Amino acid sequence: MLGPRGYLDQPHELTLYEYDGSVDKILPDMVVFPRNTEEVVAIVRLTAEHHIPIVGRGAGTGLSGGSIPRAGGVIIGFSRMNKILSLDAANERAVVQPGVVNLDLTYAAAPHGLFFAPDPSSQKACTLGGNVAENAGGPHTLAYGVTTNHVLGLECVLPDGTVFETGGAVPDLAGFDLTGLLTGSEGTMALVTKIIVRLVRAPEAIKTILGVFNSVDHCANTVAEITARQITPVAIEMLDGTMLRMVEQATHAGYPIDAAAVLLIELEGPRESVEEQTEQIRVICSAQNAREFRVARSNEERDLLWKGRKNAFGAIGRVSPFYYVQDGVVPRSKVAGALRFIEQTSNKHGLVISNIFHAGDGNLHPIILFDRRKTGDLERAKAAGEEILDHCIAVGGSITGEHGIGMEKNETMARLFSDATLETIRDLKSTFDPRCRLNPGKVLPTGKGCGEIRQAVLETGSVHY
Ligand SMILES: Cc1cc2nc3c(=O)[nH]c(=O)nc-3n(C[C@H](O)[C@H](O)[C@H](O)COP(=O)(O)OP(=O)(O)OC[C@H]3O[C@@H](n4cnc5c(N)ncnc54)[C@H](O)[C@@H]3O)c2cc1C
Repeated sequence: MLGPRGYLDQPHELTLYEYDGSVDKILPDMVVFPRNTEEVVAIVRLTAEHHIPIVGRGAGTGLSGGSIPRAGGVIIGFSRMNKILSLDAANERAVVQPGVVNLDLTYAAAPHGLFFAPDPSSQKACTLGGNVAENAGGPHTLAYGVTTNHVLGLECVLPDGTVFETGGAVPDLAGFDLTGLLTGSEGTMALVTKIIVRLVRAPEAIKTILGVFNSVDHCANTVAEITARQITPVAIEMLDGTMLRMVEQATHAGYPIDAAAVLLIELEGPRESVEEQTEQIRVICSAQNAREFRVARSNEERDLLWKGRKNAFGAIGRVSPFYYVQDGVVPRSKVAGALRFIEQTSNKHGLVISNIFHAGDGNLHPIILFDRRKTGDLERAKAAGEEILDHCIAVGGSITGEHGIGMEKNETMARLFSDATLETIRDLKSTFDPRCRLNPGKVLPTGKGCGEIRQAVLETGSVHY
């Protein structure tokens, strides 16, 4: 049905699909690679006949186990559906297949003075289908918002093979906002086969700044000060000392290895306003005892600073065989306190935890280094992650800023939402996926009231966990 190289079913091939960017592993029974919507429909219908669970997969860079087949079954990989179907520069729109890599869309739009704003740090690899499913963010979320703010319409396939469309290229369409509902639904309601996105005009001027601090508190307070003065940079990223050393050794981006923390700040807009805001931020950094304030003087210097930030996860691989990225949110004013809590948690569990995160959004990414080969290390890493999430909830934050719930935090959802809210979400899922075949065991707690995994087990007789 799928032509040459259309599927994988050998054990050594399947092991490549048993994990994503998180720490859990489960083998799929088969991986298939459709080339168009019709083939997706055919796969969905065939698996429906045999009651087999299906899981969509983009590049597998997800950080919450979203594309792992928790209840077994078939992974539908979208890597062959990777075409930009149209790019309408005049109206700042593009229509893409879900397997298009995020950065490739910006490369295609750049000659028209446009770009695709959501830029996860994984943007060289992750796909737009994955971005839609996770409602991905990125360093520039502070000014541009997350993926949902840039998705105008979708073509989707339901688990019974029905194809339907939501939204459209024009703003303010009639009816319910199904595009908004499906964006961020983590592949549990429908498979996305086409996406209409908004492109954004490139700004007149960009300034990228590195503020260097000898104190983590001063660095964190600078973030709150900048936003309190009603300056909205497009990005405020923070890296702590441990992370700086790992990143610099790997990327030679020019980060100081003896600092306690740095801020990578980016401003965009009309030239005059960018110049003025740069000076305002210089004053704030100086008041917070920044020891250095460096403004990138060329595109090359700017690219180098971002290279350090965006290649950070790879850099960790040089010093630790395993790491666990946590994703929590706290109100911006609570960032300094949260970083102190993370340090205590690190000491308590005897695990190194480094921080690199979207500080402007209060979106923390503590990275817990561990060694899976040592007995109890993975459990301690997971326990440390849980404690950090509890802290986020306690100070009025949330359990994910952008990496989604997946199978990593579905039980934690019960700490954030009431039973009634969870039941409402489940009812919505059931409307789209009444037989719980689509990415079962994700997002919702599997405990009382949520029987989707049990349902999948009953239907398939196969479960791998
Ligand atoms: C180094 C690194 C840095 C990262 N930085 C960021 C960041 O800054 N911001 C951020 O938000 N995330 C970040 N991530 C997480 C990840 O890259 C994003 O969640 C991304 O959107 C996942 O895309 P993907 O193509 O890899 O999707 P996958 O991991 O393959 O899948 C993710 C989810 O999408 C579903 N899915 C995929 N395609 C479809 C489809 N066509 N239809 C329906 N469901 C589908 C899957 O079932 C799964 O639930 C980072 C990850 C890494 C490894």
